[in-house]
Amino acid sequence: MRKNTEMFHEASKRMTGGGSAGGRIHKALGAPFYIDHADGSHVFHVDGGDFIDYHCGAGALLFGWNHPGIREAVMKCMDKGFYMNFDSQYTLEFAELFTKLVPTVEKIRLTNSGTEATLAAIRAARAYTKKNLIIKMDGHFHGMHEMIWFNGGCGTNLDEFGETRTVTPAAAGFPQDSEKNVRLIEFNNINAVRHVFEKYRGDIAAIILEPVNYDCGCVPSTAEYMKQVRELCTKEGILLIFDEVISGLRFRPGSAQGFYGVKPDLSTFAKAIANGFSLALVGGKAEIMDMFNPAGPVVCSGTSSGNLMSVMAGIACIKMALEPGFYDKIEEIEKNLCGEIDHLFRKHGIPGHIRSQGAQFAFYFGYDDPRLDYTLSETVKYYSPKQYRNFTRACLAENLYMFDGGGKPFPQHNGFTTAHTEDDIALTITKIDKIFSRLAQ
Ligand code: PLP
Repeated sequence: MRKNTEMFHEASKRMTGGGSAGGRIHKALGAPFYIDHADGSHVFHVDGGDFIDYHCGAGALLFGWNHPGIREAVMKCMDKGFYMNFDSQYTLEFAELFTKLVPTVEKIRLTNSGTEATLAAIRAARAYTKKNLIIKMDGHFHGMHEMIWFNGGCGTNLDEFGETRTVTPAAAGFPQDSEKNVRLIEFNNINAVRHVFEKYRGDIAAIILEPVNYDCGCVPSTAEYMKQVRELCTKEGILLIFDEVISGLRFRPGSAQGFYGVKPDLSTFAKAIANGFSLALVGGKAEIMDMFNPAGPVVCSGTSSGNLMSVMAGIACIKMALEPGFYDKIEEIEKNLCGEIDHLFRKHGIPGHIRSQGAQFAFYFGYDDPRLDYTLSETVKYYSPKQYRNFTRACLAENLYMFDGGGKPFPQHNGFTTAHTEDDIALTITKIDKIFSRLAQ
């Protein structure tokens, strides 16, 4: 990877860490993975090779790179002033499509990123309830902001009630005492919810969670757990916020909340709703959404919020997701790809399994038990980051791009898109078979 190395050297002089995002450095390479262009399921590397991409824009892509339908929609905005941070008939069309797709979302406010959306949701929840404390799930990720990014790891340091013993900022530079505003509990443990609701009664504004915890290895919930959380929130007057930044549009009907049949008060969406264009939103009950300015006192605004290009992409994506057969295709690819890889773990006697949810999947090297209800503490006890690092490195050598994740002690999520062809999947399985046979030695 000669040019990649040269580019990293040059980039490091003018860009901190040689990249635009701190997490983008592929640790197996020791450098960012510089890409010339991308198309369909492939990314084309600056050194000439092309890779079947399984990172798919950190979960932002559901339809593949350079999708013709999205390209056509986006090109339309070239005739309309292309940037345009005014609302238009297209913003209205998007809002109408989205509120129909996700019925708990009675009103929306557009933002540029998932980070802004979760920040706005938490701000609105505090203003609406006039309470301060936010309950967060251990290991769930909601963006890197001071409202919610605490305890970067997961599955450790829990007390006997499933509450984390200490809450600490996940990065330096947070305001002093910011951690006092958030408590963390174990996911999928209803007694932990009961425990904190009782312990902090009267102080809690909201509980925020990912219906599927992608950041710690595509950990699903159960309809029963979700139902019980909803009931407890209603009983206690605590808002339930679903962070569907990744799960949004990945499940039918109308994202993970439709799949689980649970109605949050507020939800956040980003990534796949515009296949990677900068479109995100917070949405929910009209009464809460009317807390946002100018209707209410909670400010949520941005220069590029609801910009035309992203909105056009969003309309195209939602229409495609509503087409008959869209989710059948996802499920079919998931069955072929993940089913086969799971089989390869056993064929080669490698302890581990693959877990998949909504066109995203995670490799559980070292952890054999595919039960749905295991806890993250069990996962981190058995999971082998070293073996995953060896695997991603071997994948690169075979022109498969899997996210490395920097050696985190829990499984990383990768994914596929509807642009991944049968040939891509067959080739991937053949290559992983080869890689596993080497790893098993
Ligand atoms: N919420 C979840 C569940 C995420 O996975 C992410 C990002 O990966 C975010 C929020 C933050 O979104 P963004 O990177 O668009 O700011």
